Amino acid sequence: MADLGGRVGAGAGEPPDRVTGVTTLPARRLLLVHAHPDDESIGTGSTMAHYAATGTHVTLVTCTLGEEGEVHVPALAQLAAAEADQLGGYRITELAAACAALGVTDHRFLGGAGRYRDSGMMGLSTNEHPRAFWQADLDEAAGHLAEVMREVRPQVMITYDDNGFYGHPDHIQAHRVAMRAAELAAGQGFAPAKIYWTAMPLSVLEAGMSHFAESSDNPFAGIDDLTELPFGTPDEQIAARIDATDQHAAKEAAMRAHATQIPDTSWLYSIAGNFGAEFMGVEYFTLAVGEKGPGDGPYGWESDLFAGLDVAAGAEPSAGGAGPSVEGAEPSAGGAGGPAAGGSEPTTGGAGAPPVPAAGLR
Ligand SMILES: [Zn+2]
Repeated sequence: MADLGGRVGAGAGEPPDRVTGVTTLPARRLLLVHAHPDDESIGTGSTMAHYAATGTHVTLVTCTLGEEGEVHVPALAQLAAAEADQLGGYRITELAAACAALGVTDHRFLGGAGRYRDSGMMGLSTNEHPRAFWQADLDEAAGHLAEVMREVRPQVMITYDDNGFYGHPDHIQAHRVAMRAAELAAGQGFAPAKIYWTAMPLSVLEAGMSHFAESSDNPFAGIDDLTELPFGTPDEQIAARIDATDQHAAKEAAMRAHATQIPDTSWLYSIAGNFGAEFMGVEYFTLAVGEKGPGDGPYGWESDLFAGLDVAAGAEPSAGGAGPSVEGAEPSAGGAGGPAAGGSEPTTGGAGAPPVPAAGLR
């Protein structure tokens, strides 16, 4: 990359076709930067499915293969890092199936599959592996992502906050790389106009905690106070609530595609059984870069990540051409967001453990 200056959020131009200079992608383009296979589905699956189904080009960049994950399928136990160390390769197939369930066709690994290795949980010796993502040179890793931005020209990017949502080193590094890539892209005029971080409103966590207080299957067991959780955002700091309840089945199917990571007995599915579409289908974000668009409710939560941007909803049909063009479905302005109701989604993602809010965090 040439110019390291400039500011983030300078706005994105149109992606030129590599050969002809003709725009081939839909007008709206959304980029997601995630740490491991499964994070996209657990954290943002409904949002991805919603935008993919309504004519937005959705690009997923996954930073590692999740090599250090546990293996919850007994027949595949030998794939684990301490055994054959083939889990990462296997998880490529799980991620492909998850993307298919979400309707997402443009998926890449940062720097190519296997360039960066899962660092494992914070403090483990796996953090020191020479290919561990935690050890990555920031500008080199960000350069790979900036190249994706140059090609796709996303107006909106989603990644994690500076604590990686819950503290996993690869999630923290994904945040750093994504934000640095936006800086590099800004210097060349194609940074995303808006950058969101995944978030969980405190009101949603509170509702979940009280709902499960008497349950024998309480994912909040051992938690006395929400401040003990590594995530949770005051409602007034939330910028967007994406209601993709009509995509909850796609999200659940995508999660089930990650069978080595999320066992059928996961509390995620038992919560889904109780809260159904609300739990699976509604996702929240804070806005880190860019100008918040119009929204609803007491805090003006956006119901569309493209709110306020001068870019049409839905696909712009084009005359084909090279590149990862995607056919759009019916254009939609996105659903109206209502006030948050029950439902709790204290996901932690993570390759090292199934997402459990309390006991699973290390
Ligand atoms: Zn993860």
